[in-house]
Amino acid sequence: MNRKGDDLLIVGPPQKTQQLLQLEVMQERYLDIPQDISESFGRELAGYLGEKSLPYFIDLITTTSHYDLYGLRLKRSNHHFQIDGLFLFRSFFLITEIKHLRGILSVNEAQQLIQSKESEDKVYQHPLSQANSQKEQLRKVLEDLGFESIPIYTLVIFTYDRANITFEHPDMIPVQQLLFRLKELTRKFSDPRLDRNQLLQLGKKLLSMHRERPLTFLQPSREVLRNMKRGVFCPKCKPKVMKWTYGTWKCSKCGYKDKNAHLPALIDFVFLFGYTINNKQARWFLLLDSIYTASRILRKLEVESYGGNKNKTYNLRFLLNSYKGRP
Ligand SMILES: [Zn+2]
Repeated sequence: MNRKGDDLLIVGPPQKTQQLLQLEVMQERYLDIPQDISESFGRELAGYLGEKSLPYFIDLITTTSHYDLYGLRLKRSNHHFQIDGLFLFRSFFLITEIKHLRGILSVNEAQQLIQSKESEDKVYQHPLSQANSQKEQLRKVLEDLGFESIPIYTLVIFTYDRANITFEHPDMIPVQQLLFRLKELTRKFSDPRLDRNQLLQLGKKLLSMHRERPLTFLQPSREVLRNMKRGVFCPKCKPKVMKWTYGTWKCSKCGYKDKNAHLPALIDFVFLFGYTINNKQARWFLLLDSIYTASRILRKLEVESYGGNKNKTYNLRFLLNSYKGRP
């Protein structure tokens, strides 16, 4: 993505993670949503909203060319580490740890971050020590790639606009101060170490090394299956489900018709139970009585399938290719 001449490029813009897309689906498909899922949803969503609130501020800095990578997850020896926002400037690299936390935020004597809201305290690792451990790991990755001498700086950014931050620290700042702090940093690190082309090559290289966290699917226990809202939702009257009649899906409430309305439902199925589906599962999830209709719908997808006749399994992975999540 190239904007404003060549001054600013975002290599990897903030995107919903696969986990967030999955949790969005679960929010809609569970009849009674388990607490751990609803908590994970809150956390993932906060992470995404935090990342998304940064580029606006970064955009304002047009004086230096830089490359931005969001949610980069890299492998180092046997484990992975993730950096919320990595900004590659010619004279230094910046790691940002993004905290989208509401309430009163403080740091206790044991150097932990405390979030107080609604008479409940939550304790987190000190965000700068988190960022510093990412820095050490990133340094090793960069060494392997032959980039040794470039300084790496870390900042913690609080993106929730009404958070009450009770401490003052030049490297743990509310998002509104980011622009000012970045200007200071570009003055501090004023000696260019890499040229534009090296920066771009490195940005692309790091992006190619990104590894998405794999999804964990639901185990189809009786309890889980009973707790699912099945069917093809009418896009207008959700969670009202549509019925398959005369070769199309029809909503009995608003009259909306769409012969491809099962596609979003199949995407939901994938996020819930995994990449493959057979006829029986399709009938169960789409609320179809007819084995022939289900078969027709599945065959029409023109996707890879395995096995014969009754045990035919279809691979729905391709449905996720262009899927960006709930609006
Ligand atoms: Zn409707």
